[in-house]
Amino acid sequence: MTEKTEFESHLYRTALAQLDRVAGKLQLEPDIHERLRHPRRALIVSIPVRMDDGKTQVFQGYRVHHSTVLGPTKGGLRYDLEVNLGEVTALAMLMSWKCALVGLPYGGAKGGVTCNPRAMSAREREHLTRRYTTEIMLLIGPDLDIPAPDLGTDEQTMAWMMDTYSMTQGKSVPGVVTGKPLIVGGSAGRREATGRGIVYALYQATRVLGQQLRDQKVVVQGFGNVGGVAARLLWREGCVVTGVSDVKGGIWNAKGLDIRQLEAHVAATGGVGGFPDTEPISNTQILEQPCDILIPAAIGSQLREDNADRIKATIVAEGANGPTTPEADVILRDRGVTVIPDILANAGGVIVSYFEWVQGLQYYFWRESEITSRLQEVMTRAFNRVWALATKEGVDLRTAALMEGIRRVAEGYKVRGLYP
Ligand code: NAD
Repeated sequence: MTEKTEFESHLYRTALAQLDRVAGKLQLEPDIHERLRHPRRALIVSIPVRMDDGKTQVFQGYRVHHSTVLGPTKGGLRYDLEVNLGEVTALAMLMSWKCALVGLPYGGAKGGVTCNPRAMSAREREHLTRRYTTEIMLLIGPDLDIPAPDLGTDEQTMAWMMDTYSMTQGKSVPGVVTGKPLIVGGSAGRREATGRGIVYALYQATRVLGQQLRDQKVVVQGFGNVGGVAARLLWREGCVVTGVSDVKGGIWNAKGLDIRQLEAHVAATGGVGGFPDTEPISNTQILEQPCDILIPAAIGSQLREDNADRIKATIVAEGANGPTTPEADVILRDRGVTVIPDILANAGGVIVSYFEWVQGLQYYFWRESEITSRLQEVMTRAFNRVWALATKEGVDLRTAALMEGIRRVAEGYKVRGLYP
């Protein structure tokens, strides 16, 4: 099996290594295994944007479809300086396993633009988004590929994408994206979905470990859509959130933070830093603080060979995609740390995106209570299936989750056969 050098990146190598390992365990047919290793299609686009200073800057963007075998593709859009083709392709592959694991009729996709959204004005971000949407137009659509928010993008980004797509069609096409504002066809509960899904996964994890979620000490790296919501909901459940961080660094108080007041502080100042009665702490130190539950919810490769033996948490719930390297995985497993893997722990986002898509296609919208109870049902079922498989096979939760997701995608390839 030859490596495709154009996808070369740390995360892609990791994703391939995970696939190869699990393919062996599943005894996948070699032909199907080989097909799973390659994205179905990948598009690279140049995005010229007239910046506020009058100069034109050209950004690079990507949209990758990993697998279309189980349905239209689904995956977020990331604005970050670390974005490259290999990373986007790896994330698209993870989306294939994630959607299959939780039983959604989707293949995996991902998009990204290499940029620093925090250094851009709203006008610049809007122009970037609209031109990017136009450039990837041939790959997206409500029954083709449906983007959603990810690192550095939000509801507003999705509204611009939907508007740009709709303008070219001469009609409103809300189903082209999920994670939209409510007023233009978004779903109740979508903003909270990923964080809420983490809480449901943690309910189950603490239950099977014979513990209670209440009173657990929690540390969260990344106070954005995923980490911020997870912190708030866990705090409301009676957990003690002792540390959180954002891109500029973290804050710490061993007695716990008042998350409501912290949210008001972030709204007023733009970051968690300087919150009263806290000590500043770096993004690396925060991972090693004493706690029961650690939620890395920012970027990839945060738990590595060089810090995994200093992690104090007994449960790691991966809010971010790919926050733990394979070397760290082994160390954490040997130390008895329960790692709830990304494709399970953060699946709440794509689950409620699916609900949003279904509601939009039917022009019939559900109450938030219906969304959250269906989300809880899907997360609980997925967690328990993964836990049972891990116990039966004597493997960790990541291996079990990958086995379940990859097996289903492979099954799709098998029954559909190879065209022509
Ligand atoms: P976001 O942009 O809303 O928040 C990201 C947070 O991480 C912010 O607090 C930011 O300041 C911080 N951050 C950014 N770069 C950092 C760095 N280099 N070091 C430390 N902190 C940094 O993004 P999000 O939507 O919350 O996504 C966070 C992670 O969760 C990503 O890995 C994403 O792929 C994953 N994820 C998101 C969703 C979703 O629905 N939004 C779903 C599944 C997985």
